[in-house]
Amino acid sequence: MKARRPLVAVWALALWLSVAGNVPLWERVGGLAGSPSQRLALFVGLGLLVAGATAAVLSLMAWPRVFRPVATVLALVSAFNTHFMHQYGAVIDPGMLANVVQTDVREVRDLLSWSLPATVLLVAGPPLWWIWRRPLASRGWLPQTARNALGALAALGLIVAAVLLTYQDLASLMRNQKSLRYMINPLNTVYAATRLAAQQLPRSARALQPMGEDARLGASYAGHQRPPLLLLVVGETARAQNFGLNGYARPTTPALARWQAEEGLVNFGQVQSCGTNTQVSLPCMFSPLTRAQGGDRVAEHENLLDVLQRAGLAVLWIDNQAGCKGVCARVPHVSTASLRLPGVCDDGECFDAVMLQGLDERIAALDPDRRARGVVLVMHQMGSHGPAYFKRTPPDRKPFVPECASNTLSDCPPGELVNAYDNTIAYTDHFLDAALQWLKRRATAGANDTGLIYVSDHGESLGESGLYLHGMAWAIAPREQTHVPMVAWLSAGLRERTGLREDCLRNRAAEPVSHDHFFHSVLGVMDVTTGAYRRSLDALAPCAGAALVQAPQDGARR
Ligand SMILES: [Zn+2]
Repeated sequence: MKARRPLVAVWALALWLSVAGNVPLWERVGGLAGSPSQRLALFVGLGLLVAGATAAVLSLMAWPRVFRPVATVLALVSAFNTHFMHQYGAVIDPGMLANVVQTDVREVRDLLSWSLPATVLLVAGPPLWWIWRRPLASRGWLPQTARNALGALAALGLIVAAVLLTYQDLASLMRNQKSLRYMINPLNTVYAATRLAAQQLPRSARALQPMGEDARLGASYAGHQRPPLLLLVVGETARAQNFGLNGYARPTTPALARWQAEEGLVNFGQVQSCGTNTQVSLPCMFSPLTRAQGGDRVAEHENLLDVLQRAGLAVLWIDNQAGCKGVCARVPHVSTASLRLPGVCDDGECFDAVMLQGLDERIAALDPDRRARGVVLVMHQMGSHGPAYFKRTPPDRKPFVPECASNTLSDCPPGELVNAYDNTIAYTDHFLDAALQWLKRRATAGANDTGLIYVSDHGESLGESGLYLHGMAWAIAPREQTHVPMVAWLSAGLRERTGLREDCLRNRAAEPVSHDHFFHSVLGVMDVTTGAYRRSLDALAPCAGAALVQAPQDGARR
C-alpha cells in the first residue's frame, strides 16, 4: 500500500479537528452578537488560527512512528471534550484537567451516558479510520525532523496571516470572551496538560514548608475541664442561593432554620469560594495563604490540620468522597465512601449520614493524650456532587419531586433538575441536623465543649446561561459557582471558652467573608497560638470577648 506523505496527514487532520472537533466553539461564535460580516471574519480568522495552531503541533510530531499515536490521542481528546462541552457547557482549562486527573471511578461513572460513545464515534472515528488505513512515508530521522520544523513554521505563518487579517475582530473577541480560548480542541488540553505538568514536576520533589512550628494551645486550655471538639464539615457543590437560610423560595434547610431560631446557629450569607472545583478549593481552604497569596495553587506549605496537630490536638479526617486532595496526608484519616453498611450505603457509595456512624468510637480510638486536650474532626461530604444529583439522596429524603434521574442534565426539564439538586441540599440539611444533635449531646453530657463550622467548597451551575456543573476558570466563573453557604454553631461551653458573643456573630455573619478566613477562624475558635495566625483574617475574632479584643495584632495573639 502506498505510504502517505506526512504533510498531507498533518493538514487533513488539522482541518478535520478544527471543524468537526470544535462544534461547541463554532456554535458559541455563531451565537455572538455582531453583523454577519463581522461573524464571517471571526469564523475565517479563528478557523485559520485554530487550524494553523493544530497543524503546528501536529507538524512537530510528524515522524512516522510518532504521528499516528499522537494523532489518535488528540482526536479522542477532541471527541471527549466535545461531548462534555456540549453536555455541560464545560470548558477545558488547567483546573478542569486537574479535576479530571484526580477523579475516581465513581465520579466517572456518574458522567457517562450514551451520547458519549456516539460523539466519540462521530468526531474521532473518521480521522482515525483514515489515519490508520495507510502508514506514513519514511525518509529518515534527520530529514524528517527538518521537514517537521519547516511544517511548523509554515503553520505559524498561517497563524500570523490570520491574526493580521482579522486582528480587530479577534482581539475584541478574545478580550470579551475569555472562556473561548479554553474551548479550542484539542489545544486547550495540550495547554492545560503542559501547565499542569510544569506545576507538579518541580514541587512533587520538594518537601512542604513547615507551618506554625511555634503552635501552642492558648490560655483557655488551662482553665477548662472539658476539651473542645470542633467539627468542620466541608460541603460539596452546595451553592448559597439554593439554601433556604439565604432566602431561597423553597424550604431546603428547615432543620438549620430551627437551629438558627432556637439554638444560636449563625448563617454566613456572603461567602466566596477560593476555587470552582474541589481540587483547588479544598487545599486552599486549609492553606495558610489567601487566594491572592497563591492559596489556590499547588500547596507548598503545610496546612491547618498540620498546625492543629502540632499544637497537640487530636485531628481526624472522615472522607465520604474522592479523597482529601492531600490535605489530610499527615493526620489520621478514614474513608467511608466504599463501606457496605446496609441502609446508608447502596450501589458502591454511601450517603453522607454514614460519617456519623460510630463517631464516639472513632473519637475514643484517637490518641488519648491529644484527645484529652481537644479534637478537630473534619467531614468531607459527597453533598451535591453532580451530575447524578439523584444518587446523593435516599428514596425517603426527596421532598422535591419529580426529580431528574439522568446524568444527561440537558435532557431533563429544568424544574426536575432543580428538584434533584434541591433534594441534595435538603439532605445536607438533614445531615447537618444529625451532626449538630450529636455535638449537642456530647456537650450536654459534659464530654466536650462542642462546635461546628460548615462551608461548601464551591457552587454549581444548573443551566444558567447554558452552563452546568462547575469548574469554570475562577476569574470568569458565574456567581452560582463561587457563592457558597456557610454556617457556624457553638455550644454554650464553647462560647464561654472563646468569649464569642452570639448577637455579635449574627451581625458579623452578614458581612462578606471567603475561604481565606477558614484557616485563621479555626485557629481562633480552637485557641491555638502561632505566628501563622492572622487576626485580620479570623472571621469570628471581632466577636471575641474582652481578653481577645485587647490582644496584640497579627501573628502574636496573647
Ligand atoms: Zn467540589
